[in-house]
Amino acid sequence: MSPLVDLHAHTSASDGELTPGALVAEAARAGLAAVAVTDHDTLDGLEAARAAAESSGLELVPGIELSTYLDGCEFHILGLLTEAPSAEDRALIEMLVQARAERAERMVALLRRAGCRLTIEDVHRQAALPPEVSPRGRAAIGRPHVAQALVAAGDVSSFAKAFGRYLAPGKPAFVPKHEFPPDRACALIHRMNGLAALAHPGVYGRDELLPRLVEAGLDAIEIWHVLHRESHTAHYRAQARKLGLALTGGSDYHGPRKQGARLGQPAVAYEVLEKLKAEKAARVAL
Ligand code: AMP
Ligand code: FE
Ligand code: FE
Ligand code: ZN
Repeated sequence: MSPLVDLHAHTSASDGELTPGALVAEAARAGLAAVAVTDHDTLDGLEAARAAAESSGLELVPGIELSTYLDGCEFHILGLLTEAPSAEDRALIEMLVQARAERAERMVALLRRAGCRLTIEDVHRQAALPPEVSPRGRAAIGRPHVAQALVAAGDVSSFAKAFGRYLAPGKPAFVPKHEFPPDRACALIHRMNGLAALAHPGVYGRDELLPRLVEAGLDAIEIWHVLHRESHTAHYRAQARKLGLALTGGSDYHGPRKQGARLGQPAVAYEVLEKLKAEKAARVAL
């Protein structure tokens, strides 16, 4: 059997449960040949992940998952095989993290107006990180941190209820993120010599926007994903052929307790990563 890879996973640098080191160790234990660290809007976990990968002999695929908006729909764009950003791009990414921090404050204000007791300190406690994972000592804050803080403060009885009652779109404390457009996300990824891949296309239900996303700079599309059925994979494989996109896939793992995803599932062959590397080499040579 060909070795397997997982090209989409989160660490505690964003809303994953495991530290980058623990994620890499888990990937090695699962027998994977390579794992991509693709945290939401941050590269913070990559250094620790790289160190762990070097000592365990597993290949780290550096990455990021950027939240973007097009036509009122939120699309996630993965950067894969990225390299170190310029100082200017580092500041741009820092701005996205800062916008997430400000969004968390707005969510807390809305929650308190809705009668919850949690404070921004409760959220910061959930997002606290050791310095080896984040120089700022805090994750790129997402709704999961707020959900955990709501549970800890006794405002809701479960993580799922926090989303169901307050944090899902249309609920009283939902706040959209910074309006970052897909073309800027793809350009940022390309400046880091990475490939831009549309994450989990099956969850948006907006296939009519695929050509515009390709125009914005996509190189690849995630056809294997924990939320994709076989019919999605087949459908997006055909779309990829039509639109001239490379293929990628991963579990979108967020840790052992979260959301049912398991590292290395769905199975993605090492050959998929090899093709992405060839695609990157061709793009960088341009
Ligand atoms: P954010 O990027 O801050 O909007 O948070 C989105 C993240 O929240 C996703 O990547 C998931 O990890 C998680 N998430 C979104 N919706 C739900 C839900 N209904 N239940 C549990 N987790 C969710
Ligand atoms: Fe997430
Ligand atoms: Fe995503
Ligand atoms: Zn993800």
